[in-house]
Amino acid sequence: MKSLEIHVGDIVQFRKQHPCGGWTWRVVRTGADIGVVCTTCQRRILLPRDKFRRSVKKIVSGASDVSADAETPGMSSS
Ligand SMILES: [Zn+2]
Repeated sequence: MKSLEIHVGDIVQFRKQHPCGGWTWRVVRTGADIGVVCTTCQRRILLPRDKFRRSVKKIVSGASDVSADAETPGMSSS
């Protein structure tokens, strides 16, 4: 995996399980640091892009590859 494409709204899985028991995180911020929220306990953390890339095991669902699931946060008002 070279440059990881990450977008706000993506759901990612890390290599390590969160102490709360959760595995998946929702991306809430991208930039120099990546902000993610645990989908299980709602804890929010910031990771440097570099560390984030090493920690991610896989992207569970991308915000960009749209689909049927109703997991999308409703942020369409401008
Ligand atoms: Zn958690």
